[in-house]
Amino acid sequence: MRIVKKSKEINSLFNSIKSSGFIPTMGSLHKGHEFLIMKSKQQNNVTFVSIFLNPKQFNYKKDLKNYPSNITNDIKICKKNKVDYLFIPSFKEVYSWKTYKKKFPKIKNIMEQKFRSGHFKGVLQVIEKLSDILPAKRIYLGEKDYQQLKIIKDYFSINKIKIKIIKCKTIRDKNGLALSSRNKLLNFKNITKASKLINYIKKVKNKKNSASSVTRLIKKYLKQNKIKFDYVKCINLKSFENSKKNSLKFRIFIAFYLNKVRLIDNV
Ligand code: AMP
Repeated sequence: MRIVKKSKEINSLFNSIKSSGFIPTMGSLHKGHEFLIMKSKQQNNVTFVSIFLNPKQFNYKKDLKNYPSNITNDIKICKKNKVDYLFIPSFKEVYSWKTYKKKFPKIKNIMEQKFRSGHFKGVLQVIEKLSDILPAKRIYLGEKDYQQLKIIKDYFSINKIKIKIIKCKTIRDKNGLALSSRNKLLNFKNITKASKLINYIKKVKNKKNSASSVTRLIKKYLKQNKIKFDYVKCINLKSFENSKKNSLKFRIFIAFYLNKVRLIDNV
């Protein structure tokens, strides 16, 4: 595995690499990231992983400061999974990039866009540059960050960027909790609380409840269990808007807090 720190070094690889897969991450890698890497290994000759903890994606300095980071372990995980190139640009390197040359998709003011203003602008800044410099044919993104996936898809589409987006399922632990770097900030009690909530959401969804009942029941559960939340939404994936009240076809999105750690998931 080769560790690359400068975009210039990547540029020099452009001509020799034909089929490559790319997994952008913020580090603190777990089995969810490993699943994306495995998918890329199956479909490409060369796999790139990037690690960049982007401050522009964080609304609060404290959240950025507390975000788990373990680069030594990340390198080990990438080596174990036979990643070919690990791109770890410095803050200086990234902020010297001139970006925002391309069109921005219209981002609906719901969920992460509403509660974390500027977050997706930060995501697209990095994606714009990385998709310019990395010789990628396919990019691997997790459904765990469904709204992000949708926005990157729209962004590629309006800018006619020819990188194929491979949507990957959310990897969960044995109790149903979506793996997330932020889970490392939770104690056992809160991990259990989070898994119970996700299992409750799955149960409510499996009972074929309408969108309005699902939202009502989940909000009631959150209140009863004293779990703070930013939103609970039933979203129609075609329009990417609130699903009709009586609809049975929707995906449930949630952002909630346990011990001040903010988790997102969708079912
Ligand atoms: P992050 O490092 O959290 O920015 O995530 C990098 C990529 O990994 C994103 O495309 C995420 O959606 C994806 N990802 C994060 N957690 C999981 C998970 N539990 N299962 C599958 N993909 C994930």
